[in-house]
Amino acid sequence: SYSRGILMCGIVGISAETNVAAEIYDSLLMLQHRGQDAAGMVVCDSQDKLNSRKSMGYVRDVFQQRHMNKLIGSYGVGHVRYPTAGGTGKEFAQPMYVNSPYGISMVHNGNLTNSKELGVQLFHAEMRHLNTDSDSEVLLNIFAHELGKQREIYPSAEHIFKAVSKTHRRCDGAYAVLALITGHGILAFRDNNGIRPLCIGIRKGETRDEYIIASEDALFESQGFKKLRDVEPGEAVYIDKKGNFFSQQCAEEPQKRPCIFEYVYFSRPDSNIDEISVYKARMRMGSKLAQLIKKKNPDHDIDVVIPIPDSSTTAALQLAVDLNVPYREGFVKNRYIGRTFIMPYQEERKKSVRRKLNILDLEFEGKNVLLVDDSIVRGTTSKKIIEMAKDAGAKKVYFASAAPAIKYQNLYGIDMPATSELVASNRTEDEVSKEIGADWLVYQTLEDLIETCQYGNPNIKEFETSIFTGKYITPLGENYLEDLEVSRQDEVKAQREKAKA
Ligand code: AMP
Repeated sequence: SYSRGILMCGIVGISAETNVAAEIYDSLLMLQHRGQDAAGMVVCDSQDKLNSRKSMGYVRDVFQQRHMNKLIGSYGVGHVRYPTAGGTGKEFAQPMYVNSPYGISMVHNGNLTNSKELGVQLFHAEMRHLNTDSDSEVLLNIFAHELGKQREIYPSAEHIFKAVSKTHRRCDGAYAVLALITGHGILAFRDNNGIRPLCIGIRKGETRDEYIIASEDALFESQGFKKLRDVEPGEAVYIDKKGNFFSQQCAEEPQKRPCIFEYVYFSRPDSNIDEISVYKARMRMGSKLAQLIKKKNPDHDIDVVIPIPDSSTTAALQLAVDLNVPYREGFVKNRYIGRTFIMPYQEERKKSVRRKLNILDLEFEGKNVLLVDDSIVRGTTSKKIIEMAKDAGAKKVYFASAAPAIKYQNLYGIDMPATSELVASNRTEDEVSKEIGADWLVYQTLEDLIETCQYGNPNIKEFETSIFTGKYITPLGENYLEDLEVSRQDEVKAQREKAKA
């Protein structure tokens, strides 16, 4: 199966006059929230030689001074990847490399939904070997095959774009991609829905323009880049090693349908994705929730609004302002512990909530509190936190989720548990409320969530919202959903780990 680990990732590529490794490193640090499991980069020097480093761990641990000293090159790509229990390990770290043609190194954010079928084609018809379950390796080999078929010693932008068009025709799913073509330049492309983000920045060098392409634009300014624009769905952008910029639409029916969960949870608040400020979208999520609460419960007795840090704070603050209720910090987060999702199994996950968040009892004693989180996934965190709030002396604990009920697994690059492990998958709102121990639960409506995002860019007619609706916007390979459901279950993950050990 090629559906084991759906990875959340961050990617960056830079083309400049001088060495780019230090800036790729800084960029990866600013994309660290998109992945903490492994990091890597490859750069190409003036002799057309690749220099690379990748390993498991945080960016700051993967790249030591001795590695940086060797990472000489004026164009390169980098990657951070998120931990999942399946498909973790060094061989999955990116960039991934194929020797032919030219030597291509690729970094990928997203997930293909027909990688099993493509894997079979690659093996039987195209004589390519796949060494991992990673769909990124499939994508890399498909692209390499299509580029190689043109039999050009020196590929032009035109050849490269033709290979991207062919890749689009064969690959289904989500992919924001950067590739370093050895001796030639860097290439970026985005699937025809633009599910995962990718944007371009520019700055003046001495003799030419320098470019950065990355998952998020929050990192541009600190490195002297100005945002040029987003890469469009289906579009490919190629910057040759001399700094010449080429772009072309390579998909047949592109339509912008970005993943709405980037705005809810995944992205940094200081990023703009497809021209929507993540920060402002989150404020609007708070406003919409306030309206909903006033409508559903006009005589509410909420004394205080308390966010569950960090991803809900922006929405919670605006919610409190609009409700005209005090906003208080009731939890203090230990910043030096990884996310609770890193713990593969349920028991460890429960414990780690307590290690991650400390409670300030004095904000809870004798009060009716409204806790706000960006989303409820398994419900483990919310259940534990509500318990903590009650132990701290809260009279009533209400709970608001800035996202609607998550009922279906994500196929497009967000690491989510199996559907059966999602607390809302087979429960009504009231049942979820009971399950997590809340006195009242309110979910954002999908309509409102879409509005909060669309307001920032009315040109976007549709978002990728399948975790709420179960409607997937790309074709799915045979048995894709069923295979994924099984491979994502805790029990199966545990067995897989055991088999490896
Ligand atoms: P739980 O309901 O216990 O599964 O956890 C919900 C919390 O996990 C929310 O506070 C979110 O901020 C966070 N969250 C949402 N999606 C993810 C994800 N894909 N990976 C890690 N954390 C997530």
